[in-house]
Formats: sequence, C-alpha cells, structure tokens
Amino acid sequence: MQLNKTQKKWLAETFGSEVRFDEPMSRHTSLGVGGPADVYIAPKEKSGLMDLVRWLQENSLSYFIVGNGTNLLVLDKGIRGIVISMKHCLKDIQHTTLDRKNILVTAGAAARLNSLCKYATGNSFSGMNFALGIPGSVGGAIIMNAGTVQGNMADVITAVVALSSNGEPVRIEKHALPFRYRGLDLKEHKKIAGMQTPILLEGEFRLSPGDRHAIEKEASAIMQKRAAKQPLHQRSAGCFFKNPTKGKSAGELIDLAGLKGKRVGDAQVSTIHANFIINKSNATATDILALKDLIQKAVLRSFNITLEPEVKIVGT
Ligand SMILES: Cc1cc2nc3c(=O)[nH]c(=O)nc-3n(C[C@H](O)[C@H](O)[C@H](O)COP(=O)(O)OP(=O)(O)OC[C@H]3O[C@@H](n4cnc5c(N)ncnc54)[C@H](O)[C@@H]3O)c2cc1C
Repeated sequence: MQLNKTQKKWLAETFGSEVRFDEPMSRHTSLGVGGPADVYIAPKEKSGLMDLVRWLQENSLSYFIVGNGTNLLVLDKGIRGIVISMKHCLKDIQHTTLDRKNILVTAGAAARLNSLCKYATGNSFSGMNFALGIPGSVGGAIIMNAGTVQGNMADVITAVVALSSNGEPVRIEKHALPFRYRGLDLKEHKKIAGMQTPILLEGEFRLSPGDRHAIEKEASAIMQKRAAKQPLHQRSAGCFFKNPTKGKSAGELIDLAGLKGKRVGDAQVSTIHANFIINKSNATATDILALKDLIQKAVLRSFNITLEPEVKIVGT
C-alpha cells in the first residue's frame, strides 16, 4: 500500500517530529534487523493516536502496531504503509482496591511489562511475578498472551480498553478475548472492537495483596533462573518457536537435533538456549529466516514435528 503525496503531507503537518518516513525497523526491534517502514509514527498524546486512527479508517489505510519490538522479525525490505508505535504515550499504571483479596491494576499499553511487575512488587501485590524479565510492553504482552510455565497474561487479565473503528476507546471484558497459547485467536475471532488490526490502549489485571518479602524472594529466584538459562545479553526475540502441545519443548528438540551454535551468516542458534536465535552482530532478516527454515527441516526430519514460529514475521 503506497501513500500518496497528499496523505504524506497531512501526516507530516499533523504529527511533525512524531512522524518519520523510511524509518529502519532495525532501530525498533530487539533482534536489530528489519528494513524501513514507509511511515513510522509515535504520537506523544493519546488524542493524536485517536485522530490518526480515525484518519486511517477514513482513508482505508492499513497499519501495523509495534510495541517494544521484542517478538518481531521484520523482513529486510521493511514494512509498506504505516507503523504506529505508542512508546511515547499510554504508560500510566494505577490501582484500585476492590476488597481485602482483590486489587485491580490498570496499565497503559505502552508501559513496560517489567514496570507493571515492579509496580506490583512495590505495592505488595502478588500475581505478576510470572511476567518478570519479559521485555515487552503491556499491549504486546496481551496480544501475545506472553508468559512462562508460571503463568500467562490470560491468568491475570480482567479486561482491555481498545480503540474502536471510529477512534473511540471501548472496554472489552476477558470473556470476549479469545486467548490461546502465546496469542489471541484473531483469525477465529476476526475482529476486536470492530478492528481487523486491534489497537490496545490499556489492560486491567486482577492481583491480590501479598507479603512483599515473599514476592521479592520469588522474583529474585525467577530472575536468577532466567539469567542462567537465557542469552539475555545478546540480541534476540526470545523463544523463536512455540513449544509443541505435548512432549519435549522446542528448545530440547532443537538441541537434540544437534543445532546449538549453528550459524547462517550472523544469525546463530544460541549455545545457551537452543530456542533462541541470536543476532551475533550484523545478521539480516534473510539470515534469520534461513536459519529458521534449517531448524524446522532438521526437527521435522529427526522427530516428525513441525515447529511453528512464536515470533511474528512481518514485512516484505
Ligand atoms: C530476551 C527475551 C526474553 C523473552 N522472554 C519471553 C517469555 O518468557 N515469555 C514470552 O511469552 N515472551 C518472551 N519474549 C518475547 C516478547 O518479549 C513477548 O512476546 C512480549 O510480550 C512482546 O511484547 P512487545 O511489546 O515487544 O510486542 P511487539 O514485539 O512489539 O509486538 C508483538 C505483537 O503485538 C502487537 N502489539 C503490540 N502492542 C500492541 C498494542 N498496543 N495494540 C495492539 N497490538 C499490539 C504487535 O502488532 C505484534 O503483533 C522474550 C523476548 C526476549 C527478547
């Protein structure tokens, strides 16, 4: 989808320094790869975001939302059309005490998941520790149903606020959100708030009062385990493949297929955790895709299991 001159002019005049043209997506992804987005907009105010969405609907223009870019592989030719980032707005976190056992915490979609975890610990609320160390935003974590063996977003969420197609916020209760393993089942559901591509503004979570010391102790154990088992100081998008529904994990299968350390260009299967593909330095998305294909073929050949990517592959 190409934008015409008039549309680009409107964007430049309306959003000023908040809009960039031909912006390399490698700057906005944890893997550090990805070609240019035609248009990249990071509105500073929620009102700007809402104006933008109304304009996109009126002009029948599609868009892609980027959160913290930690679960994305953007291809080398980049993204045609508009990428919206909310990283400059929607970061507030606050809570309401419902009763002795229940606290409702609301967090803006662009707040870091780790900030939400720290907010919970700081207020002695238990229930968020499962998400510690996941480097995404609240919005991205909800869309991905991010989590670990200790739990996932669907366990704590009670509702989201999304933008509707007329650019107004609308509250959606959990029962209307089709969560599945590492995602929201949008193919089945088709739309959230009338939008083919949903835009989350806020998440609401039910936590419970706890003992701060116990929460901190658990948090520290979780973080130590993560640091020992994951290549946290190298560029990656976390676990590249979903775990099969039963049997060995994707990481175990890749390891057993003898692929730890396997390289294509500067893309490598991590020697610390075989389900992480890391960018050693100058990997391209093409290197990472080639390594992904190689892994899938090897695991299929050895175990007759097709690994499905957890990482979202976007662009051209
Ligand atoms: C070192 C490392 C460790 C990780 N560990 C884990 C882990 O333990 N568990 C786990 O589940 N994941 C893990 N991840 C993956 C990743 O952090 C999560 O999937 C995270 O939730 C993605 O959030 P994000 O904001 O970066 O989303 P992005 O990568 O920016 O986007 C992911 C998807 O969400 C959509 N999206 C983002 N924000 C919004 C919004 N506001 N409205 C609508 N759509 C939106 C995007 O369009 C995209 O489809 C890890 C990643 C890294 C790099």
